[in-house]
Amino acid sequence: MPAIENLQKSSIAVFGSTGSIGTQALDVARFHKIPVDTICAARSVKILENQIREFKPRVCAVFDESAAKELKTLVADTETKIVSGKEGVCLAASETKADIFLNAVMGMAGLEPTLCAIKSKKTVALANKETLVAAGKIVTAEAKKNRVSIIPVDSEHCAIHQCLCNGRKSEVKKLILTCSGGSYFGKIREDLENITPTEAVVHPKWNMGRKISVDSSSLMNKGLEILEAAWLFDMDIDNIDVVIHRESIIHSMVEYNDNAVIAQMSVPDMHFCIQYALTYPERYPGITEELDFSKVANLSFYKPDTKTFKLLDLARYAGKCGGVIPTVMNAANEAAVSLFLDNKIRFLDIFDSVCDITMNYKNIDLSKELTMSDILFADFEARRLIFEHFSK
Ligand code: MG
Repeated sequence: MPAIENLQKSSIAVFGSTGSIGTQALDVARFHKIPVDTICAARSVKILENQIREFKPRVCAVFDESAAKELKTLVADTETKIVSGKEGVCLAASETKADIFLNAVMGMAGLEPTLCAIKSKKTVALANKETLVAAGKIVTAEAKKNRVSIIPVDSEHCAIHQCLCNGRKSEVKKLILTCSGGSYFGKIREDLENITPTEAVVHPKWNMGRKISVDSSSLMNKGLEILEAAWLFDMDIDNIDVVIHRESIIHSMVEYNDNAVIAQMSVPDMHFCIQYALTYPERYPGITEELDFSKVANLSFYKPDTKTFKLLDLARYAGKCGGVIPTVMNAANEAAVSLFLDNKIRFLDIFDSVCDITMNYKNIDLSKELTMSDILFADFEARRLIFEHFSK
């Protein structure tokens, strides 16, 4: 279906523009002719140059200083202003003229730009779940204070956001997150001994970045999503269930107090979720194909195996502890996954080290207010503990 020409179009900022979600967000922008005010990435100079030439953003922020220098020379003939470093990135997030700030930065690096955008009263479309896991309390409090909406981009949370329109908050009994089960559904611990990074980054249903694909294989991703949902929808962790759904057609569900279950279905394609977040509360003609029920032969559901995939329960534990324990779990996982992707540790080492460090970390005093410096210190410590754990 062609895009509608006369719809009111907000302009967007895309942070993490060269990654999987970022490039798909620009596909949506191209399809619907949505103006792109700002882009930002870590260092992929060549891709950024192409994006600048195509979308003509006002500003492009680059984390890496030397990459920024190189890019500046490459696009000297354009009108795009290049800013660099952590400061430049935060400034670009604060000063963007976009109506919607899409954060698709990978990992904890997305936290400060999100806070800058919220303080500048931008609507946030959030694909960076680590932001909410590590600092959900601070991010949601800032959003409330600044009257800023956070629209989820993650497919499960995008689904729940839609399902929640069918009743009042007080009528919601539970949220049910669906989970594809990743690449190793049905496997037991012994089967996971020799998995290589090349194998772990292949996902059966979704096309995603390397870190999130490993998280999907270990089910850490679903654990992070439980905490993300708890903050986004202000739900108790005990009222958030996970069900394995291999076909990835139902993207999540909401159960109401009368036991009615509302599910959202669509083909598994992140373009849909990105478009929903960028156009909400409107619905635009779809960039993704329609669901063909004649091709969906079966919808199957299973209980997750939390004995083998123990990071799922670890996330519940961390969420219930509160304080900095979720921050520690998130940082330990980021560090362990990066060591695994560099072939330095085994797949199962991620499970064991992240559990070990999270369970043994001394939490902050919960009677005191959680601060950004508590979060940043815990994040730093957890990464250090992971490296120490593997350098023994
Ligand atoms: Mg997801």
